[in-house]
Amino acid sequence: MYSSLYFQMISLAYTVLLLIIFFNKKKINSIENKIYSRLILINIFGIIFDLSSTYLAIIDVTNPMLIVLQKFYLIYLIVWMLFFTIYTIVISRNKKSDGYDIYNKIKKVLYPIVFISIFIILLLPLYTSNNDDRIYTYGIGAKFTYLLAGLFILSWIICLICNRKKLGEKEYIPIIAILVLGVFVGIIQYLFPELLLITSLFIFVTFMMFFTIENPDLKMIQELSEAKNQAEKANNAKTEFLSNMSHEIRTPLNAIVGFSQGLLEEDLSNETKEEVKDIISASQSLLQIVNGILDISKIEANKLEIVNTEYNFKKVFDELVSLTKARIGEKPLEFNYKYDESIPPVLYGDFVRIKQIILNLLTNAVKYTKQGYVNLTISSVKNNDICRLIVSVEDSGIGIKEENINKLFNKFERLDLEKNITIEGTGLGLAITKKLIELMNGKIVVQSKYGEGSKFTVALDQRIVPKKLEDIQDEKIDTIPFIGNNNKILVVDDNPINLKVAIRLLRDYNLDIDTSDSGKGCIDKVLQGNNYELILLDDMMPHMTGVEALKNLKKIIGFSTPTVALTANAISGMREKYLENGFNDYLSKPINKEELESILKKYLKQGDKANLNIETKSNDDEDYDLDILKQAGVDISSSLELLGDMDTYNDTIKDFFKESKERLEKIKEYKDNSDMPNYAILVHAMKSDSKYLGFTKLAELSYNHEMASKKNDVDYVNSNYESLMIEANRIMELIKQYIKEDL
Ligand code: ADP
Repeated sequence: MYSSLYFQMISLAYTVLLLIIFFNKKKINSIENKIYSRLILINIFGIIFDLSSTYLAIIDVTNPMLIVLQKFYLIYLIVWMLFFTIYTIVISRNKKSDGYDIYNKIKKVLYPIVFISIFIILLLPLYTSNNDDRIYTYGIGAKFTYLLAGLFILSWIICLICNRKKLGEKEYIPIIAILVLGVFVGIIQYLFPELLLITSLFIFVTFMMFFTIENPDLKMIQELSEAKNQAEKANNAKTEFLSNMSHEIRTPLNAIVGFSQGLLEEDLSNETKEEVKDIISASQSLLQIVNGILDISKIEANKLEIVNTEYNFKKVFDELVSLTKARIGEKPLEFNYKYDESIPPVLYGDFVRIKQIILNLLTNAVKYTKQGYVNLTISSVKNNDICRLIVSVEDSGIGIKEENINKLFNKFERLDLEKNITIEGTGLGLAITKKLIELMNGKIVVQSKYGEGSKFTVALDQRIVPKKLEDIQDEKIDTIPFIGNNNKILVVDDNPINLKVAIRLLRDYNLDIDTSDSGKGCIDKVLQGNNYELILLDDMMPHMTGVEALKNLKKIIGFSTPTVALTANAISGMREKYLENGFNDYLSKPINKEELESILKKYLKQGDKANLNIETKSNDDEDYDLDILKQAGVDISSSLELLGDMDTYNDTIKDFFKESKERLEKIKEYKDNSDMPNYAILVHAMKSDSKYLGFTKLAELSYNHEMASKKNDVDYVNSNYESLMIEANRIMELIKQYIKEDL
């Protein structure tokens, strides 16, 4: 029995040690940790009861205090097992649910049971004897305690079996340990009844829990890693949400911009035209915001790639300069641009992103400067094949308060709002700028004096390409409008409005346009033997994406039609993705008319007549003097944009002349009879024809008459008839001079 005392004293020492370590550590506010701290505290009482009752049994087994101590000891066993049970249930919960919730629920059931049991143990008789150095505790009180203990052990086994999947690797250990060691201790106890090991077992398990799961340090690491995982998950979800949202927003925006561009070509009053232009510009601002959000989320998810290519340094910065000048517009700002002449003409880097960075800085400089200047200066430092571009954008604007400089690059941070409240912005520009610069291993520094101005300096290393400018591919500025040759093309989009927009944009190019609303439809059309010269294929379609459709198209023997990805997914890097997937090119929605036209030029054969324009006259027998029309203010270039070539122009002008003779007589007749509906029809026709042929003034006057006659405004028609006729006759005379002998 003395040996029990040794075990118990060692256990006491361990428990005190654990108590000191545990309660000295900064704790985690988790329910498991709270229950665990109770287990340690209870152990102290348990070991004291155990020690003192063993000691008392050795010196005086008849002492009535022994029974009291034994009863307290049995209560300790029950209470410890109660908390261990609660602990087991709490850790095996689904980790998404709140541990405190579960704890409160179990507490309501188990606490009353244990209270009643304690009461019963206190009441039931208990006896102790000391035979041959062995202490026996018996009586109904002891039996009742063993029964309860058995039930607790059963609950641990059930819990372990039912929740094995939810339990973390280390969480198994204490439960298994107590079960296995429990059996082991039982056997020892049976073989050596003088050894009292149960308290030591409980203390050992408590100790083990500290080293496996309940050490606050370990717990902290575990919680941190869980928090990190959750934050990563949330961030991924955010990126995905933003990229989906961008797609969702871009699709309707595509319709708005596309239709508005179409409307601009209709006969609208100047006021309506201005409004349509406002719609386009507002949609484009919205598009920029969507792109900004998308860029930042891509950067944060490490999905934005830097795409390096050879580029013409001067061309990139010249474009930035003209964009900035356009932004300055009427503002009283002086714009100065200086660059180091020794910068090599061809550099290697991501010029698209460099443009984005510098344009952001220049746009801010223009935005936040009321008057004075904006200076763009580029200097360089060369080292072997690296040219460090040092670009500074300086302004004499509102400046930035010193305390705000650190916040400048935080996303969604807009500073000095009292002053900036009227200036539009999202607070994303500089955050994106900084991240892009970091991605390119560059640096940005800000100097600013509040009220006087700011200077942003960016340093970016670019590789020098030892080539002459002529050697790099540089798209030639091609201003000749594209006119097709009734080329057969297919547009595939599941969204009917997008299809309409595409048709609206394509219809000016003399093409034979076919459409399909699905990937499958597209494949069927090709299988039916339709020989398309070009396919514009939307990617995000239900059932079969554009990428999948193209894969299937490529399996068709003999299929070689150039296919262009048409998609609202305009995230950076998309172009490369589509090219990798076998597309020949990429067009982002909302479709930009110039980009569309350059695609058409690249892949379609132009109509023969399209090779002609004002400067290149046809080799036709006809040799008309265009100067006559130009000097009289006829807008030939926009007319040629609509009609395509000089032959068509000349044919149309002849038809106009012939028709107009009769038309002008009829107009007079309807006016005299005050027949406004028919008058309106004829002036409308005159307006459309005049517009096509570049007779701007006649088109405008006819439009006014059309509007008035539609409103049955006879007075207006009568009093303005004369001026309409003067202009009509002037045009007729002009045509006579232009196409002399042919009339
Ligand atoms: P935004 O211009 O869309 O608000 P930015 O991220 O480009 O967002 O800029 C963040 C903030 O930094 C702006 O709101 C403005 O207060 C300040 N700022 C940026 N550039 C300048 C500048 N050149 N002069 C003064 N303040 C500036």
